[in-house]
Amino acid sequence: MTEVVRTRDELAQARSRLLAGTDEDRPKLGLVPTMGALHAGHATLIEAARSECQVAAVSIFVNPMQFSQESDLARYPRPFEDDLARCVELGVDLIWAPDVDVMYPGGPAQVWVTAGALANQLEGPSRPGHFDGVLTVVTKLLTTVRPDRAYFGEKDYQQLTLIRRMVADFGGDVLIRGVPTVRDADGLALSSRNVFLSVNGRRAALNLGAALRKARFAASSGGTAAEVLSAAGTVLAGAPDVQVEYLELRDPDLSPTLPAHGPARLLVAATVEGVRLIDNTAVELTPAGSDPTPAESR
Ligand code: AMP
Repeated sequence: MTEVVRTRDELAQARSRLLAGTDEDRPKLGLVPTMGALHAGHATLIEAARSECQVAAVSIFVNPMQFSQESDLARYPRPFEDDLARCVELGVDLIWAPDVDVMYPGGPAQVWVTAGALANQLEGPSRPGHFDGVLTVVTKLLTTVRPDRAYFGEKDYQQLTLIRRMVADFGGDVLIRGVPTVRDADGLALSSRNVFLSVNGRRAALNLGAALRKARFAASSGGTAAEVLSAAGTVLAGAPDVQVEYLELRDPDLSPTLPAHGPARLLVAATVEGVRLIDNTAVELTPAGSDPTPAESR
């Protein structure tokens, strides 16, 4: 049965009921934080929570604090009944769907979690305050729901990195799990914003995934970091309807220094028809002089 709770008291009661047991045999609680408009990407996170934890909770909260533009907040989709049906289908035990005044009693938060330098790059410059809003609401979710594990998508790689870092820095007990990006059959990373793309816009947006695939191929063929970046850049440069905001190759922790070989992360943000899209992929940079394995034979 899927239970929907909207107040802190209801949440506390449902939590105690679902987790009844002694400390050793208490069921594990997995939380999937979302802003709703659930799609197959969210479903993968929920399935991961269900497979690792006896109790699966989903939070649905469109967090005003992480939107830098009012218009973006106003048009964010909120199909609650569809989300509920999907959660029932996926066997979610608990939906935590607070209103804004439950989440922020007494008005906007006075005290924020500040994301620091890692938030001033990549997504940061075009979304001022976004990650402070994300980390603040994730802290609230983690402290109210108190899950054993929380599940986040690699789709929002900088967000996942910051949340991991926050939990490590603050010494929380919760285990943060990253789940690989789910894509449509045509390669477009699933996103609640994709509904705003026309057929042509969607076709243009496919260049993001295509650029990442080209980059992975360049890396697996022995390309240097510069060659990997340029492989992706060439695809995007040939797509006039895609306005690239950034295309960056980073160390997997997103620190500014990229080693010459080993695991790396390629991240892209672009606007198509006024819709801001992000995507990223892992790439493995081959040491110079080693014999690369062509991607097709892997
Ligand atoms: P959102 O509702 O957009 O805030 O996303 C909620 C969670 O779902 C975040 O952890 C996202 O990273 C994750 N997510 C969004 N899109 C995808 C996707 N295509 N594949 C996997 N996870 C995703």
